[in-house]
Amino acid sequence: MSDPNCIFCKIVSGEIPAKKLYEDAEVLAFHDIRPQAPVHFLVVPKTHVATLYDATPSHEAAFGRMLAIAGRLARESGAAEGFRTIVNTGPVGHQEVYHVHMHVLGGPEPLGPMLQRRKQ
Ligand code: AMP
Ligand code: ZN
Repeated sequence: MSDPNCIFCKIVSGEIPAKKLYEDAEVLAFHDIRPQAPVHFLVVPKTHVATLYDATPSHEAAFGRMLAIAGRLARESGAAEGFRTIVNTGPVGHQEVYHVHMHVLGGPEPLGPMLQRRKQ
C-alpha cells in the first residue's frame, strides 16, 4: 500500500513536508515544488500505485476522487476560468515520480502551449 522509497508516499505519511491543499481518505493534494503555472498542484492517491499501467479496479475510488475534486481545488486556488489536468505515464510520457499523480495547472490568465503537436 506504501513504498518506503517513494517520495509521494513519504509526503502522504508526513515524513516529507509539502504544502497541502486537501486531504481525505482516498487522496492528497499538494503544491508542486517546481510550479509551471501560477496554479500548479498535484493530486495523488494515498495508496502507492506506480503508474496508470499498474491501475486495477481497486484504484477506481481514488482515481475518481482525483478528478472529482480537481475543479473545486482549482477554483479555490485561483484558477476559476479553467485549468489543465495532466497525468504523465512512463518514460515516453516523461514521468519522473513513479507514484501516480495528476497535475492541475491554471491561473488567472490562459496558459501557454503545453501539448503542442509535433510538426510532421
Ligand atoms: P512528472 O512525474 O514528470 O509528472 O512530475 C513530477 C512532479 O513532481 C514535478 O512537477 C515535480 O516538480 C514534482 N515534485 C517532485 N518532488 C516534489 C515534492 N517533494 N513536492 C512537491 N512536488 C514535487
Ligand atoms: Zn508512492
